[in-house]
Amino acid sequence: MSADFASWGRIDPRLRASISVDAYEEARLTAGRDAFLPFGNGRSYGDSCHNDQGRLIDVRPRSRILSFDAGTGILRCEAGVTLRQVLERAVPHRFFLPVTPGTAFVTVGGALANDVHGKNHHSRGTFGRHVLSFTLLRSEGESLSCSRQHNADLFRATIGGMGLTGLIGEVELRLMKVPSPHVQQHAIRFDRLDDYFRMIDRIDGEHEYSVAWIDQLAAGRAAGRGILLAGDHADGACEFPDVPKGLRLAVPFRPPVSLLNRLTLKAFNLAYFRKEKPGETVSTVKWPGYFYPLDAVRDWNRLYGPRGLYQHQSVYPQAQAPEITARLMETARRAGHGSFLTVLKRFGDEPAQGLLSFARPGFTLTLDFPNQGEATLRLLDRLDEIVMAAGGAVNPYKDARMRPDVFAASFPDWRQLEALRDPALVSDFWRRTALHLRH
Ligand SMILES: Cc1cc2nc3c(=O)[nH]c(=O)nc-3n(C[C@H](O)[C@H](O)[C@H](O)COP(=O)(O)OP(=O)(O)OC[C@H]3O[C@@H](n4cnc5c(N)ncnc54)[C@H](O)[C@@H]3O)c2cc1C
Repeated sequence: MSADFASWGRIDPRLRASISVDAYEEARLTAGRDAFLPFGNGRSYGDSCHNDQGRLIDVRPRSRILSFDAGTGILRCEAGVTLRQVLERAVPHRFFLPVTPGTAFVTVGGALANDVHGKNHHSRGTFGRHVLSFTLLRSEGESLSCSRQHNADLFRATIGGMGLTGLIGEVELRLMKVPSPHVQQHAIRFDRLDDYFRMIDRIDGEHEYSVAWIDQLAAGRAAGRGILLAGDHADGACEFPDVPKGLRLAVPFRPPVSLLNRLTLKAFNLAYFRKEKPGETVSTVKWPGYFYPLDAVRDWNRLYGPRGLYQHQSVYPQAQAPEITARLMETARRAGHGSFLTVLKRFGDEPAQGLLSFARPGFTLTLDFPNQGEATLRLLDRLDEIVMAAGGAVNPYKDARMRPDVFAASFPDWRQLEALRDPALVSDFWRRTALHLRH
């Protein structure tokens, strides 16, 4: 079966061969090496969710919530359940995901396999920390039950293991009790990056959530201005409905060119910055708007045009963060590249849950660029160099092009994952980084 299993960057959106979970369960014992890769919902940006020399295992139809205990908040579900489904089930009982990325259209299996992080990494670590157990089907044997007590090596390797250790079947998660799913938001406008760095330790100490948007195209005196959005769950008296029925907009066509060029981005950034009053504004925000603002516009990635987009997410040590953050943004600006969504966040000191988890202590900057071919690739290499010289790392599940040496320096434990990899599974990302290094 062939279908469009594009990843979110849409750099190479061709038809891809796939197989159902049922068919994979039959085929796996006689499968050759490197023949398959599990596919969640394609919200990874590059080729870590593709295996173009093999077939993708389409996990999405496996999407049943198996049980939910409204007393303890423990939920069991199949790996193809989306975070949106989890929330629809749990929110009326005043439970919320303890960690969520910036879109709810991610599967539980995909969130586990990339050990994703959210706006509260400084208070709750990554997704994997809240996973109690899961089943893992290896191609050469039976389904294994994995937890911190049983098959602990595979448990640790699968969290953040990018789908390479086996097919995750069912997952048991502990959700977080909240007084309300909605959020009391503190929007704090800052005129300079220094102002952000001066307040962030205090803000993170005071609030469950915090993330900053930065106007990457602003130069001169305005360079580094932005808005810090901190927040906490509102109290139980909040009157919004538990699951608001929001209007979902869509990009209804595929524009022939990117609509996100330097000019439109400059105008958008200025308008977004000015939307907030100077100083701090406190308001109560519905949870879909606080956690998932981009989910309100379906297929927004199409705005980048037929050549797609690259995302660059890096993490670097706290001591050098003010300088490195400014350099990364200025390097992109000087290269003539504007980033639509520039997001800065401090990761907490929580030790990594998985063998190859990306989140680690330091600051993380995320930049999105329309694909302009060679010029963009050169810029991304330059950004890697800045990050690596500071002892940082580049995110593999946002990546479609990092060099093998950048990967190895970012994830020195990659050989341990290679040793535990299911022989039938591989990704295009793993082929061009780890397997390239091994040969
Ligand atoms: C708008 C947007 C915002 C985002 N914000 C964040 C953020 O704030 N923080 C963050 O960390 N990430 C963020 N991401 C990235 C996203 O959360 C991750 O890439 C996530 O892992 C995608 O999950 P998916 O279900 O779409 O899986 P896919 O992208 O299809 O696959 C992800 C990986 O999981 C593996 N996999 C999927 N299902 C299984 C299974 N059943 N068994 C074994 N392996 C499996 C795949 O092989 C692949 O390696 C964002 C992405 C978008 C588009």
